[in-house]
Amino acid sequence: MSTRGVLVVALGGVRAPVLEAVTLARALGTPAVLSLQPLTDDDVTALGAAGVARALVADLGEARHAAAVSGRAVAAAVEAIGASLVLLPTSFVAKEVAAHASFLLDAGLLIDVAALALDDETGEVVGDKRVFAGTWETRCAVTSPVAVATVRANAVVAAPAGEATTTAVEPLEVDATLPRGLALIGREERPSEGRPALAEAATVVLGGRGTEGDFSAVEELADALGAAIGTTRDCVDEGWQPHDAQVGQTGVTIAPRLYIGAGISGAPHHHGGMQASGTVVAVNLDQDAPLVQIADFAVIGDLQEILPAAAQAIREHLDR
Ligand SMILES: Cc1cc2nc3c(=O)[nH]c(=O)nc-3n(C[C@H](O)[C@H](O)[C@H](O)COP(=O)(O)OP(=O)(O)OC[C@H]3O[C@@H](n4cnc5c(N)ncnc54)[C@H](O)[C@@H]3O)c2cc1C
Repeated sequence: MSTRGVLVVALGGVRAPVLEAVTLARALGTPAVLSLQPLTDDDVTALGAAGVARALVADLGEARHAAAVSGRAVAAAVEAIGASLVLLPTSFVAKEVAAHASFLLDAGLLIDVAALALDDETGEVVGDKRVFAGTWETRCAVTSPVAVATVRANAVVAAPAGEATTTAVEPLEVDATLPRGLALIGREERPSEGRPALAEAATVVLGGRGTEGDFSAVEELADALGAAIGTTRDCVDEGWQPHDAQVGQTGVTIAPRLYIGAGISGAPHHHGGMQASGTVVAVNLDQDAPLVQIADFAVIGDLQEILPAAAQAIREHLDR
């Protein structure tokens, strides 16, 4: 059995993507977790069920919002536990933290991998990812002693460990001084709408220009499924949805298990941000729309009729 220490970094609490990364870490070695904020009792229970015996907590306060400081904490945790692989559930912030940590650790960096493995012969960490709007599958090996990787949400299904363990929580001392020239002026947290975060949701319902700005049917289906809401750039430009809901080349990249795109043509700029989705469902009036052509399932018709009917059927099925 491998004894490779694998550090999973929880930047904002023990959420689903952290447990997915822990599941992946168990397949590659012995998982440990670094949290940049205090852990709740529920967090510790979830980590124990996931087989994490050791959790380090670097309580950096507001300084955790500076990637240079968070990167320093990751490097300190790697040294504290002797890890040779670091996994971060991907996000814009995680990529920045990963870059700082890689620099400090002199480690090779893999960004947004969908799969990770250890090479049978060399023992090197090997990561798979799609690039150039999904037209190429690439495989990269990290040749440095320590590897850092950001892992795409939904790349693996989070599963409990065969045997639960008791997680020992230890503080990790880290210098939280901001680098010279950097000051945190202020930050504002958006109120949550009670829906999952777009980039990490397992199910996403998206509305395009075909909604004509009325997203009520999209919201109804998303709420029946417990899904996140996404959109296209044209709808953002129209002011129908905020920019952080935009999926595509100049928006968020998503890889949910289920993508439902309603009133979306499936232009290449949009396709590039969702091509790694599991099952793709298109709802469109036009059977020749590119999204219909690449979909696993397509419903040809008016989204304002189809989405509420689907939501109703799902609610009846789930009895809610
Ligand atoms: C540099 C650049 C970057 C870009 N980046 C992005 C990006 O990141 N993300 C992105 O999404 N786009 C991006 N775009 C824009 C992209 O090229 C497309 O214009 C956009 O994705 C189209 O949005 P849409 O599918 O909502 O609209 P449309 O292409 O207008 O498609 C609307 C679809 O709705 C269907 N429809 C109409 N009414 C109904 C109805 N009642 N029921 C069901 N179906 C209906 C129509 O048949 C049609 O297929 C970018 C463009 C450029 C130039």
